[in-house]
Amino acid sequence: MKKISSYLTNQSLKGKWALTSAVVIFISFAVICSVLYLSIHSWLLNEQEQSVKRTMDDLTVFFESQGGRLTIHDIQSNKGLMNSIVDKNQTVRILNEDTVEMLRINDSTLKMPDLPDTIPFRGYAMSKEKVEKTEMFVATGPIVIGPFTGVIQLTHPLSTFESLMRYILIAMCILGLGALIASAGIGYFLATILLKPLNDLRLEMIKVAEQGFTAPITLQYDAKDEISDLLTVYRSMMGELEQSFLQQQQFISDASHELRTPIQVVEGHLSLIKRWGKDDPEVLEESLSTSLLEITRMKKLIEEMLELARREQNDLQNNADILIITTDIMNEVKGFSHDTTILLEVDPGESYQARISENAYGQILRNLLQNAVRYSEQQPMIQIRLSKQQHTVKIEVLDQGIGIAEEDQVHIFNRFYRVDSSRSRDGGGTGLGLSIVNMLVNKYQGTIKVSSKLHYGSTFSIYLPAEK
Ligand code: ADP
Repeated sequence: MKKISSYLTNQSLKGKWALTSAVVIFISFAVICSVLYLSIHSWLLNEQEQSVKRTMDDLTVFFESQGGRLTIHDIQSNKGLMNSIVDKNQTVRILNEDTVEMLRINDSTLKMPDLPDTIPFRGYAMSKEKVEKTEMFVATGPIVIGPFTGVIQLTHPLSTFESLMRYILIAMCILGLGALIASAGIGYFLATILLKPLNDLRLEMIKVAEQGFTAPITLQYDAKDEISDLLTVYRSMMGELEQSFLQQQQFISDASHELRTPIQVVEGHLSLIKRWGKDDPEVLEESLSTSLLEITRMKKLIEEMLELARREQNDLQNNADILIITTDIMNEVKGFSHDTTILLEVDPGESYQARISENAYGQILRNLLQNAVRYSEQQPMIQIRLSKQQHTVKIEVLDQGIGIAEEDQVHIFNRFYRVDSSRSRDGGGTGLGLSIVNMLVNKYQGTIKVSSKLHYGSTFSIYLPAEK
């Protein structure tokens, strides 16, 4: 049993399919054939027995109808009378009281069975006996023909019946074997057709494994079944893998590119302190504050790069109350920038529920407000407008800051892109703020637009899917 199960386990899917269908079809066929064979057997056997009884009944009626007019000699001399009653394959013999055979009809060479010990007084006794390897039905009863009294014995050999049953059995075995081979063949053929897309998918996977994520997935499968589901899952899995791989690579190249300068600056200042700084408090002071500034910048840079590289699962169940979070973030920004004025404009009574996580929206707005503060030359004047359209919540952040030139507007969402760092209020940006905003907005199926005029200010508009 163990061997069979391990053999089956190691078979290909096609092999398993073909073997299983062959075995199942064969077993069903065998069960049906057995039932059929047994029914035919018992029906035919019953027919044979009935035929014996019919002949015996006909003979009894024949002798009784003669009313003693016939003698045993009449019958001996005219066998045709009984021939018309007895079937060709049956043999009848009549014996006198001394068990001497007086007459035999049909097979004179057939070895007849011995008479039973007791013969019924009326009617006849039926039995099934085997004489020289031949099974036969035997009917034995008393007979009176005129003054003659004796015994009549009828035998009905079952050799024809047995050869017929043997023929049926052989036919069934041949058919069964044919069914076994045909079902295995059809099973294998069907498995080949049905498993073809699975095999194609396997080849596709091998290709990707050999060539890496860059290899495009070319497999086309239009049917809507489990395999197309599998392909969809595979495609999205590969997409996610590729994205996280690219993000990882991006992070490594960003980190090595962006962190090199501040590290070099800190390194330079530290060697300056080592050489002269210990004795010169002015150099020491300046180098330490520059290094500290660079390290703070590096910290911020690393945090933002990590934020960009982080890949949270987009949970569509997210639901944020935009009004509440906007008010919270406004207060937060006002807390660290006291000279900033932020005005909020909303439609009274309107609810602003959007499909986004509270944290993500908080971060988007925080980054936009920080920029509005950072890129204002005078006291920052910011306006936030919330409005609801059919399926979207629109958030606008308007400032009266330095504005962004048209040629720069297309680049500001790129990583590390900065228009002119010297013009910002604190000069401490990293060029990652808007790429984080863009990434988060896209992640929650939203869009972002910018419209700006140099020296007059900028407006950032965000459209988020509204919660129904
Ligand atoms: P940073 O850390 O430099 O602020 P961001 O990605 O947030 O990086 O912004 C990219 C660039 O876009 C900034 O360097 C700045 O030049 C410009 N910018 C962003 N927001 C504004 C704004 N509200 N007004 C003017 N310029 C802006």
